[in-house]
Amino acid sequence: MSKPEKISAIEVDPADIDPFETYNRGEKIYTRAIEGFFQKLRVYTGWPLLIAFFFIPWMNWDGRQAVLFDLPARQFHVLGITFWPQDFFMLGWLLIIAAFVLFAVTVFAGRVWCGYTCPQTVWTSIFMWVEELTEGSRNQRIKLDKQQWSANKLARKTAKHGLWLGFAFITGVTFVGYFTEVKQLIPDTFLGTADLWSYAWVLFFTLATYINAGWLREMVCLHMCPYARFQAVMFDSDTLVVSYDEKRGEPRGARKRTKTAQPLVDGEKERGDCVDCKLCVQVCPTGIDIRHGLQYQCITCALCIDACDSIMDKMNYQRGLISYTTENSLNGKKTKLVRPRLIAYAAAIAIMVSVFAVTLITRVPLNIDVERDRSRLYFQTNEGMIENSYTIKVMNMSQQDGRYTVSVAGINNIKYIGENTVSVASGEVYSIPVRLEIDPKELTEQSMDITFTVVDDAEQTVSKDKESRFTGPQWR
Ligand code: SF4
Ligand code: SF4
Repeated sequence: MSKPEKISAIEVDPADIDPFETYNRGEKIYTRAIEGFFQKLRVYTGWPLLIAFFFIPWMNWDGRQAVLFDLPARQFHVLGITFWPQDFFMLGWLLIIAAFVLFAVTVFAGRVWCGYTCPQTVWTSIFMWVEELTEGSRNQRIKLDKQQWSANKLARKTAKHGLWLGFAFITGVTFVGYFTEVKQLIPDTFLGTADLWSYAWVLFFTLATYINAGWLREMVCLHMCPYARFQAVMFDSDTLVVSYDEKRGEPRGARKRTKTAQPLVDGEKERGDCVDCKLCVQVCPTGIDIRHGLQYQCITCALCIDACDSIMDKMNYQRGLISYTTENSLNGKKTKLVRPRLIAYAAAIAIMVSVFAVTLITRVPLNIDVERDRSRLYFQTNEGMIENSYTIKVMNMSQQDGRYTVSVAGINNIKYIGENTVSVASGEVYSIPVRLEIDPKELTEQSMDITFTVVDDAEQTVSKDKESRFTGPQWR
C-alpha cells in the first residue's frame, strides 16, 4: 500500500487567522483565491452588471444620452421617457418594488444579493484580483507585508495602488457620467475645462471607490450596510443559507489523505469529515469561520463551499460538508420552498408592478400649473367687469417640441385674455400671463371654481386640467 499523501491545501500559518475567534477586523484579512462552481457563478453574475454600469452612459436614445439624471434641470431621462419632479413618486414606487424584491429574495435564498451582485462585492472582487496580480498569492502577500521595504515591495505596492486608483477613477467618472453628459464630461475632465463641481464629484467617487473596495472591503458590509443587520430577522427555517454540516463534520481533525472515503478513528472517537484545514476560513472575504454557524458577517458568497468541496474531492469524501441548505434540511426535516410569506411578497410585488406599469403607460407627457396673482383678489375695470390674473405654466414633458392650446371653463361667458396657443420646446416650461374677465352678473358666489385645460394640438387625447378659483367682490 502506498504511503498516504498529505493534503497540499493545509499550508496554513495558524498565526495568520484564528478560526475559532469570531470576527476581528484588528487583523488584516488575506483571502486565498479559490476556483470552483460558485466562484464562476460570481464572475457570471458580476461581469454583466459591471459591463452594464460602464456601458449604459454611452447609450443614446433619440439623439440624447439614454440614461441621464439631469439634476440642475430636475429631469431624469430614462430611454424614451423624461421624468419630471412631479413624476418622482414613481421613482419612490420603483424603490419600494426593489425593496420588496430584495425581501422576497432574502426570504428565499438569504443574502445572495450581497454575495453575487452587490456593487461592493463586485468591485472588491476586482480589487482583490488586482492585488493577487501585483502582490501574488495569499502566502506571498503575507510574506511581502512582513518584509522590510525594498525596491520589489515598493514596485508591487505602487503597481497595486496605481491600478486600484486607475479603476476607481474610471468608476468615478462613469458614475458622474450618469448625471452630466458623459461624452462632454470625459474630454472636459482631461482638458481641464470641466466645471469645479464635476471635478469635485469625480474626485469624491474615485476616492470612495478606492477606499471602499481597496481598504474597507468587508467593513462596509459589516458596519455600514444596514441590510446586514436586519436580514437575519427575515430568515426562516426554510431560507437557503451557507451552512456547515456539523453532524457530519465533527469532531474535526487533521489527518493524512487516504484512498478510502471512511472517516479515520482517533483513539476511541470516530472523526467527522472536517479535516480542519481551515481553507474555508482562508477564502472567506469577511474572515469568518462558517463552522461556528450562521453569522451576520456571512455574505453568502459560497467561496467556502468551493474551498471545502475541493478538500472533499482530495479526501475522496462526498462533497457538501459546507453547502447551500436550510435549517430544516440540516435537522432532517422537509424544506418548504413555497411558503405563505413568499406568496405574500410575490402577490404584493405583482400588484405594485402592475400599478407602476399602468401609471407609466397612461402617463401624459404634459403638465399645467396655475398660479393666481396673490397681490390682489380681483380688479374692477372701467366697464365694471371683474378681472382676475394668473400665470399659467405649460410643461412639455415629451421628447418632441409641441404646440398647445389653453382654455378655461367653469363660469358662463368667462373671457380669456392672453396667449392661448403656444409652442413649447421639448423639456421646456412656458409661462403665460393670463387675465380672466367676467360680468359680475355671472358670479353666483364670491369665489367660484374654474378649470384651465391644456391640449396638445397634434394629439388631442393628450391633455391636462388644473383647478383654480375666480374671486369677485362681496357677493350679495
Ligand atoms: S462564510 Fe462562506 S459564504 Fe459566508 S462570507 Fe465567508 S466564504 Fe462567503
Ligand atoms: S469545513 Fe472543509 S474547508 Fe473548512 S476546515 Fe473543514 S474540511 Fe477544511
